[in-house]
Amino acid sequence: MVGGNRAGKMKELAEIITAVDGQQIKNHLFHLAKDPLPCRCLNVSRPGVLTNTLYEADRYLISFMQSWGYRIEREIVAVQAFQPDTAVAWGFRKPLPDEPWYAALNIWATRAGQGQSPGAIVLVAHKDSQSWLKCAPGGHDNAIGVAALLEIARILADKLLNSSLRLLFCNEEHWPWTSRAAAQRFSRSDTKALAVFNVDSIAGQSEADRLAGRRPHVLRYGTSEGEELADQIIQLNAELELGLEVRKVHCPKPNDDDGSFLLAGVRPTLLHIGSLPYAEPHYHTLDDCAEVVDIELAAQSTRLIVAAAVDCDRRAAADLNGDMSPKRHILQTTSD
Ligand SMILES: [Zn+2]
Repeated sequence: MVGGNRAGKMKELAEIITAVDGQQIKNHLFHLAKDPLPCRCLNVSRPGVLTNTLYEADRYLISFMQSWGYRIEREIVAVQAFQPDTAVAWGFRKPLPDEPWYAALNIWATRAGQGQSPGAIVLVAHKDSQSWLKCAPGGHDNAIGVAALLEIARILADKLLNSSLRLLFCNEEHWPWTSRAAAQRFSRSDTKALAVFNVDSIAGQSEADRLAGRRPHVLRYGTSEGEELADQIIQLNAELELGLEVRKVHCPKPNDDDGSFLLAGVRPTLLHIGSLPYAEPHYHTLDDCAEVVDIELAAQSTRLIVAAAVDCDRRAAADLNGDMSPKRHILQTTSD
């Protein structure tokens, strides 16, 4: 892309991300991880409420997404809750076959693209909280990722995007991870992923980072396409002067919900997370509550993800229009 186009695009991205509102993110986080929902589990219901807390969270998400004009699809996956087990390192074990089964919902929210691009930008966040602990709030893991996706959905609902925008709210703290079914179905569809961003624990950080006032943001990739995306995002952070300490980490073995997409053959996939190796001290404890999440860090990371999503859309549109990517520019000038 030639210099003028890039400057214009960066100006546009800078304008779009000013709409990210930390208060909106905080409202969603507290609703999902404190009041009224103390957790998001298929095996935990609030007193006097007939349905479980994860279904209550589902309804909350769907009502917002529909109010912004997204089309909702529900995909049912049979899962079991993990079980507490202090004899193993993480304090939980996989369920046994005869333990209870539940119907978990993958919720897909889609906004069709308004341009020629057949591609999709896919944003993923797991919405459940630790089912093996009785009523763990999962503020960092991953109510904040869900809150960030809701804020991204709000902001992009009225933006002109050439590509479609697909948000997947899945479940990774029950077994099996429901993103596996979603990713396999997605990979069999006609839709080409321009990017898949798994947003999980974006404000999670070590005590040392917190004390030093650092603003970490890690991009984990497993393919060359993922690394290329990570490099573009590192550049966006610098040019937009977001002040995050963004670094990329290679992961040779697919894992988590981004791993589900990689295993399904969807290559331009990244995990956005606060720290790696994950050093958030509240990880998978009953103290991982809404109050311990750094909202400003989450908001800044959300701005970066919004910018990255729109940047992917603009790149795809430019490619489609035969615009000048650096590589093409060189090819064209040398062949003249
Ligand atoms: Zn998580």
